[in-house]
Amino acid sequence: MRAEIVAVGTELLLGQIIDTNSALIASRLAEIGVDCYYQSRVGDNHARIVSSLRLALSRSDVVIVCGGLGPTQDDITRDAIAEVLGVPLDLNVSVLRTIESYFDRLGRQMPESNKRQALVPRGAEVVPQMKGTAPGLICNVGNKVLYAMPGVPYELEDMLDREVLLDLLKRKGTRETIRSLIVRTWGLSESKLSEILAPEIERLDATEDVTLAFFASRMQGLKVRATAKGRDEAEVNEKLEIEKAILESTLGDYIFGYDSDTMESIVGELLYDKGATLSVAESLTGGLLASKIVSHPGASRYFLGGVVSYAREAKREILGVRDLPVISSEVASDMAAGVSRLFSSDYGLSLTGVAGPDSQEGKEPGTVWIGISAKDDVFARQRFLGGDRERVRWYSAMSALDLLRLYLKESPRFYA
Ligand code: ATP
Ligand code: MG
Repeated sequence: MRAEIVAVGTELLLGQIIDTNSALIASRLAEIGVDCYYQSRVGDNHARIVSSLRLALSRSDVVIVCGGLGPTQDDITRDAIAEVLGVPLDLNVSVLRTIESYFDRLGRQMPESNKRQALVPRGAEVVPQMKGTAPGLICNVGNKVLYAMPGVPYELEDMLDREVLLDLLKRKGTRETIRSLIVRTWGLSESKLSEILAPEIERLDATEDVTLAFFASRMQGLKVRATAKGRDEAEVNEKLEIEKAILESTLGDYIFGYDSDTMESIVGELLYDKGATLSVAESLTGGLLASKIVSHPGASRYFLGGVVSYAREAKREILGVRDLPVISSEVASDMAAGVSRLFSSDYGLSLTGVAGPDSQEGKEPGTVWIGISAKDDVFARQRFLGGDRERVRWYSAMSALDLLRLYLKESPRFYA
């Protein structure tokens, strides 16, 4: 079974957006063992989309199209598909209802142009859409199949995982079940992670029913995806449980969570389980740390508040920080202790450092001190973070939460 991807959108050709959809689809195809021989990008032009689809269908068994299913005039993928199939477009009433009900819920009148999204090439199967946006399409073309999905990445990912891959597996004739587990890590470099996992990946290469892949979603840390195949759900779950245990023993508490966990959700739940409260004092992150913490629903159960003490005077006046070099262990400690006093919180977490691009106090950009204050203890740890100003700030917030996580879990790495 040979698959091929066609991404539609003039923005892709102009380099205004990067074609991450094709990369996502390709990686999922690889995981389920479907070969992908061609990927192409085509602009929003009827004749050229039609010829791209014809070419794709001439040499591949499965064609996956993404983009151009929206309501606007330049969204012409479905017209092109209808032409390639040689069928008319019919108005699908149930698709239209879903779109209308979406606008109803928003208390808005559905624009006439959204009706276009309810047009379906005759004979095509509809993949239900997520939130009143464009539905996906499954079109049989002789013994081949063409899938069409919306271009918006999260809509596409949802549809791909929910319907398209399963349909593809059914056609492939495998009666297998497939499931993935995402293991989320923080604190390892890509090369270190690959070194640690190399023996395990090699071992798995011989078995075929579990595979490991890791990918950098830089701002979110490194992710390891374990994918297992098996006869049924129970078998697959068991294989994943075994692999999870192996990864836990090799990666230890570099693992901070699984699947949809985030650093802030994990730290938040640890605090909540202890019945403890947190406040934060931030310099270089300017509120980013507090903002990340409250992005976890339920943060009010443990998060009391924060201080953005950017200026030296603010650190001194509000938090009682000593008059010492700002990028230092002492200042990070004073900030943490000061903020937990101010808010009467069980824990105080602080960040001070150099976001860049210029050095400060003779310290290089990316030099960061994280402070933690707990009942009778105050600690500070230094980190050296790479990247531009935005990355340094983001990594700082993640690293601070990670350090607090290690402390709360009494990890030996905290004391190392
Ligand atoms: P909409 O209903 O939003 O119009 P659509 O199916 O028409 O969806 P497009 O108009 O092609 O999709 O793209 C919508 C948005 O999705 C684009 O502005 C872009 O941000 C993103 N997008 C589209 N194609 C890709 C792609 N191949 N890779 C990454 N992002 C993409
Ligand atoms: Mg569009």
